[in-house]
Amino acid sequence: MRPSTRASVQERAGHRCEYCQLHQEDSPLAVLHVEHIVPRIHGGTDDLDNLALACIDSNLHKGTNLTGIDPESRQVTELFHPRRHRWEDHFEWRGIYLTGKTAIGRATVRVA
Ligand SMILES: [Zn+2]
Repeated sequence: MRPSTRASVQERAGHRCEYCQLHQEDSPLAVLHVEHIVPRIHGGTDDLDNLALACIDSNLHKGTNLTGIDPESRQVTELFHPRRHRWEDHFEWRGIYLTGKTAIGRATVRVA
């Protein structure tokens, strides 16, 4: 990945994990990663539209998953897509806990 691509993704994300909103400054020992929203093994590209900034926790847990199970409905659900979905629509903080407001949010919190 080109350094300019990485810089663009970091800038666009405001230097926050696009899944849990952890800011780079709050994670001094671990650099936020540029991850593929649709993983390469599923045909994801290096286009900016398919890249997102993610902390190690969110990146490792999401892994190569494209879907999760909504714990409320027990239905298979697509995961949060930082380019197509708005974070505020799907997640909220309850104290220190990141919670999902929608099926997509709940399924993402469960895998991430
Ligand atoms: Zn995160």
